[in-house]
Amino acid sequence: MIVNHQTALMGIIGNPLGHSLSPLMHNSTLAKMGLNYVYLPLQVAPGCLRASLEGLRALNFIGVNVTVPYKKEVIQFLDELSPEASACEAVNLIRNKNGHLVGYNTDGRGFMASLEEEGIQSIHRVIMIGAGGAAYSIAYELSSAGAEQIDILDIEQDKAAALAEFVNQLPGGKASGMRMNDELFIHLSAQADLVINCTPVGMFPNIKGTPVSSLDKVRGAAVIYDLIYNPLVTRFLAMAEARQLKTINGSSMLVHQGALTLEILTGVQPPLAYMKEVILNSCQRG
Ligand code: NAP
Repeated sequence: MIVNHQTALMGIIGNPLGHSLSPLMHNSTLAKMGLNYVYLPLQVAPGCLRASLEGLRALNFIGVNVTVPYKKEVIQFLDELSPEASACEAVNLIRNKNGHLVGYNTDGRGFMASLEEEGIQSIHRVIMIGAGGAAYSIAYELSSAGAEQIDILDIEQDKAAALAEFVNQLPGGKASGMRMNDELFIHLSAQADLVINCTPVGMFPNIKGTPVSSLDKVRGAAVIYDLIYNPLVTRFLAMAEARQLKTINGSSMLVHQGALTLEILTGVQPPLAYMKEVILNSCQRG
């Protein structure tokens, strides 16, 4: 990669950023595409978010991804929001159009693209475990795509109820929000088409964790999805594999939301298969 006065700047803002695979994925892909762009990890200290956005304008960055803990806080400093970002009240991508900052949320669309890639078209009943930031964008897209019922379980009853209320306010949205407990999960899981772990439980280094103790009652045709990509096979997915259920790990969503980032910022469709190869080569199986 040659960086010169014409190199276009992009990056990711968040704190911490040590875990992020986005710089590796994007820099490798941009080089593969032959584009004169560079993607930088930009760790933003607490209290410096507004100044960092002024910096992006001043230095003419074309855009940045946004990650934990700034996905919501950043909204107040932006000039415009996409419909998804506005509905979910969370932004994971900012595009700088000559100083006019537009916020997008590509997490949910990345998730839906990963389902499509696996040939999964119609989803009727969903269980979402965890009602944090990622869950909002996924619930928004699943509901918009016609999911008939979304049951949300979180260790905090208020969070589950708030996400259910958000879904129930969408046109055609139908959701329930309850405090996570194993018995309830087992009862609901007998009817679900899709079960999604939207919590960090099971993520490196705490790989022994699992958000549920059993998948025994899940239907044989159900899909088990874990948003975690490190490791690629969490204990939750290993439990599903042991029952020969279809599983999807978080690498696919990561790649698809990353591809949407590049498409929005460069106007060029990136090579998905190459992006996936980069991610899979840098993740552990479990
Ligand atoms: P988050 O905002 O922290 O949300 C996680 C939620 O799950 C919180 O409400 C948390 O409650 C709850 N929770 C924790 N343990 C639980 C349990 N045992 N049962 C039920 N609920 C539980 O995190 P996020 O940003 O939404 O991210 C969630 C996961 O998705 C992370 O692993 C993240 O790395 C992954 N992710 C992947 C992608 C991708 O592209 N693959 C994209 C975005 C996120 P408390 O707040 O009380 O702990």
